[in-house]
Amino acid sequence: MLTNAKKIIKELERKLNPSNVLSTKEECYAYAQDASNSKEIKNIPDAVVFVKSKEDVVTVVECAKKYKIPIICRGAGTNTVGACRVEHGGIILNFSKMDKIIEVNKENMTATVQPGVILGDLQSEVEKIGLFYPPDPSNLKVSTIGGSIAQASGGAKTFKYGSTKNYILNLEVVTADGRVMKTGADTVKNATGYNLTSLFVGSEGTLGIITEATLKLIPKPEACKVIMAYFNTIEDAVSAVNSIIEQQIFPATIDFMDSNAIKTVEQFYPAGLLCDKEAALIIEIDGFTKSIEYQQNVIENILNMNNAAQIQISHNSDEYERIWTARRSSMGACAKLKPNVTTDDVIVPRGNLAKLVRGIQNICKKYNLSTCLVGHVGDGSVHPQIPIDYNDEDEYNRFKLAKSEIYDLTVQLGGVISGEHGIGADKRPFIDRVVNNVALDYMREMKKVFDPENILNPYKIF
Ligand SMILES: Cc1cc2nc3c(=O)[nH]c(=O)nc-3n(C[C@H](O)[C@H](O)[C@H](O)COP(=O)(O)OP(=O)(O)OC[C@H]3O[C@@H](n4cnc5c(N)ncnc54)[C@H](O)[C@@H]3O)c2cc1C
Repeated sequence: MLTNAKKIIKELERKLNPSNVLSTKEECYAYAQDASNSKEIKNIPDAVVFVKSKEDVVTVVECAKKYKIPIICRGAGTNTVGACRVEHGGIILNFSKMDKIIEVNKENMTATVQPGVILGDLQSEVEKIGLFYPPDPSNLKVSTIGGSIAQASGGAKTFKYGSTKNYILNLEVVTADGRVMKTGADTVKNATGYNLTSLFVGSEGTLGIITEATLKLIPKPEACKVIMAYFNTIEDAVSAVNSIIEQQIFPATIDFMDSNAIKTVEQFYPAGLLCDKEAALIIEIDGFTKSIEYQQNVIENILNMNNAAQIQISHNSDEYERIWTARRSSMGACAKLKPNVTTDDVIVPRGNLAKLVRGIQNICKKYNLSTCLVGHVGDGSVHPQIPIDYNDEDEYNRFKLAKSEIYDLTVQLGGVISGEHGIGADKRPFIDRVVNNVALDYMREMKKVFDPENILNPYKIF
């Protein structure tokens, strides 16, 4: 426990009501881990504080400043890089009670929300009036807007619609000195001064605390359909992706599963996937109802020209959900193979995708690790999911070597070590392999400007 922890807990209980402050060891332990599922948990939080308003957040920041205690924001804790872990003690700021959709504005096509809003809830709400919020980090039934902004999340639909970065117009942020800042404006364009909004997107809670966000919405596509195509080689699958793009057909999604991912999902969540194939593409097309058949025909032709072994098409919402549930279940299925599972998100320019996929498979083979590869291949993004037993020291050491080699390969192929999951605590030792020293110096200086006392999610990113 940090030196001043008892004092801050008492003060917060008095100011925010004891029911909003958890501080027993058992309660705090429940917040020591996030979906990174890391072997190395250095510390447990000193307290977990539930906030209901920006005023509550200001109160917590003022106390944290006074007692020099770190604040670690937490949405649903589904990030996979240890971004919510408490490295050296501190307070977890829990946003689950700050979950109001404040306004959906049809005319302006915007939504203003509190950070604890669940992404799927926002999507359902705006869809009621024919609007659409595309970012979907593959777990939209649990993850929050605040977490997805702080993590610059992407997801399956980034290929056509862009990632969270492209949908944030304005943020209300509580700064490390307890002031409240608006980073932008609720307008579609804004060329008024520095782009602070963009700076906060992907800042992983290290620069300020988001208490409200105004998001851009777009019209909901009238219809959609999913095409699942199987291939006997990875190269054919990747070549099909490139051909689709060359033909300037722009599906909403081009996702990928390798043979291990297909077999593992089918073993635990049977969905009728074809387990004798080397790779599958999951292609979602959307747009005006009249355009769907045309897009489907063009894509089917391209897939056949690239040796697709079999093509399945969703004819109704049940079939559509079955295919997407299978793809979304890959990490859960992989987790059943061993006591633990890790995931990653490397990304390369699309032209090097086949080399990345083959390279990761070879590295895992070399270190005798199994891997399920899935990814948003339309973007060049691959998620190697590695089942592992942390109690097996030898396996864990082999995993660490493999991870480091995967990052080296990614960098050699012109890529970066995170396309959408962020850096957190887990990838921090690797960031200098990709980000140039001068850029890192500027990032460190910016952190000092925004958070001179280093109380906001310290020891993350760099
Ligand atoms: C099975 C699975 C699949 C996934 N697939 C994808 C995918 O396809 N694409 C993708 O991009 N990501 C994916 N992710 C990871 C993704 O980053 C997170 O799931 C999600 O976006 C984080 O939301 P959260 O609410 O859980 O945030 P948390 O994990 O709680 O927090 C994430 C970060 O945001 C900070 N934070 C939270 N709230 C605030 C706030 N109000 N102000 C400031 N900082 C804040 C936290 O301190 C932390 O640094 C996946 C994760 C899982 C488990």
